[in-house]
Order: sequence, then C-alpha cells, then structure tokens
Amino acid sequence: MTAQLIDGNQLSKKLRAEVAARVQALKAKGTTPGLAVVLVGDNPASQVYVRNKVKACEDAGLHSVLEKYDATMTESDLLARVEGLNQDPSIHGILVQLPLPAHIDGQKVIEAISPAKDVDGFHIASAGALMTGMPGFWPCTPYGCMMMLESIDYDLKGKHAVVIGRSNIVGKPMALMLLQKNATVTICHSATPDLKAMTLQADVIVAAVGKRNVLTVDMVKPGAVVLDVGMNRNDEGKLCGDVDFDGVKEVASHITPVPGGVGPMTITMLLVNTLEAAESVTK
Ligand code: NAP
Repeated sequence: MTAQLIDGNQLSKKLRAEVAARVQALKAKGTTPGLAVVLVGDNPASQVYVRNKVKACEDAGLHSVLEKYDATMTESDLLARVEGLNQDPSIHGILVQLPLPAHIDGQKVIEAISPAKDVDGFHIASAGALMTGMPGFWPCTPYGCMMMLESIDYDLKGKHAVVIGRSNIVGKPMALMLLQKNATVTICHSATPDLKAMTLQADVIVAAVGKRNVLTVDMVKPGAVVLDVGMNRNDEGKLCGDVDFDGVKEVASHITPVPGGVGPMTITMLLVNTLEAAESVTK
C-alpha cells in the first residue's frame, strides 16, 4: 500500500481562501481582524516563524503588527506591553512567540493575555475550556491536525488514537480533541515502556516528539492514519518529521509529509482563531 498524502499546503490554501472571504465580510461591517505578534530576543527559528505568521495574515487581509524587543526586555515591561495590547481595540489576537529569554516567566506572560485574545490557545482558561468541552481557542497545531482528519472525512468514533508526546501545546490538547470526537485515546511519552506495543494498536497515530524516526514502519498497523507534527533536521540538514516517512507510507492509509503537512496548518488555524476572535466582538 502507498498512503494517500494529506497535503497541508493544499488544505491550507483552501482554508485560507475561506478566511480571506470572511475577513472581507467583517471589513464590510467595519472591523479588520488584527493580530499582534510579540517577539523578544533574536532566536533565529522564532524570527522565521513570526515572519511567516505575519505574512500569512497580510495575505489573508488581516491586520498584523510585529513587535520586536531586545532580549534584555524585562518581564514587567513585557507584561505591560501585553496589557497594552489587551486594551487595544484594533488587536483581536495576541501571540507571544515562545521560547522567551530565561529571565522571563513564559507562563506568567501567557496568563497576562486576555483569554478573549488568546489565539494561540495556551492560556489556562483556553486549556480549561478544551478540557471541559466549553467554547474557547484551541491550540493551533493540534487544531490543524483535527482539520486534516476532517479533510479526509475520517470518523474518529470508536477508533483508537495514539498520541506520542504530552506537551501542553501539542500532545495533551491533541488527546483532548481526539477524545472529544469519541476516539479512545492513549497518550505515550518518554516513560512509556513499549511504544511499539501501543502504536501497533492505533487506527490514528499523532507523533509530536521532536526526534527523527520515533515511528518506523514496524510500529504501524496497516491502514492507520499517521500525522507527523515533529520538526527535525536530517543528516543533510533538511527539515524532517518524527516519522520514517518512506517506510511508514507503505503501510499507512494516509500520512502527512514534513515539510508541507502540519506546519502550514498551524499558521492557518492561527488565522482562523484570530478571525473568530474578531467576529466574536463584531456581532
Ligand atoms: P516537547 O515539549 O519537547 O514534548 C515532546 C514530548 O515527546 C514529551 O512529552 C516527551 O515526553 C515525548 N518524548 C520524548 N522522547 C520520547 C520517546 N522516545 N518516546 C515517546 N515520547 C517521547 O515538544 P512539543 O513542543 O510538543 O513539540 C514536539 C515536536 O513538534 C517538535 O519537533 C516541535 O518542533 C514540533 N512542533 C511542530 C509544530 C508545527 O507547527 N509543525 C508546532 C509545534 C511543535 P516527556 O513528557 O516524558 O518528556
């Protein structure tokens, strides 16, 4: 079997066109959705991520502001800046790019963002809403994974989903979203003794670890759907995921590539969350 590709670029293109149309409708009512992206320090990867986010906003007709600060910015100055953005009516979504410099408490900064503008979905209020099935912003990466499953009309009811990784931004919210759609969910992590025994039972596998070849062909049940969140570099320095793509694609029914899979979907869902934040204050 050669798996069908779930193309994140193609799906993003379709969803971003829908976002752009909704943005125009909102503009006609006098509101331009606005995203503020705050970058502290000069982490090269973060610089690329924020540039991509701002460009995606502009392409879809959203207003976006990139605020760059020196790595020496104090925590209290950053908290004050976040509060300023909370009060700014032209800004509907606030994203503070992580990681922050070591002298700043990242969680404290995330908690300072108004939950109504928490388009990254990292605020404890957003996490609590997801946990309890209440409306709230979903973290963009697992949300993008759910949209990828929806794009292939995958019915999770009664299926066994295995999530590898339990971070607050990917693994845990991913598991909750799958659970909400009636999958039976197993979460694996670095202390899971026999990962292969778990993944071999899975109808859906989400790999969110950050290590190459965490999932190889011998660990996948024929016909499983495999979503690869990981972002790593191979020996040639090229971007690759957690999954041994060439091997696993021979047994999976569907698979996401890296690059061109979950990555673009993460940005797309950020646009969706920002749009919806603006829509909710415009009605
Ligand atoms: P993280 O916070 O480092 O979490 C990694 C998780 O993997 C942890 O829960 C860890 O377990 C688990 N783990 C480590 N080694 C393992 C092993 N051998 N077997 C099973 N589990 C293992 O990372 P993250 O922020 O969730 O990100 C994960 C990956 O996704 C990274 O490559 C990141 O760059 C990528 N990512 C991509 C996007 C995107 O848009 N495509 C967005 C976010 C993240 P413990 O909890 O026990 O330590």
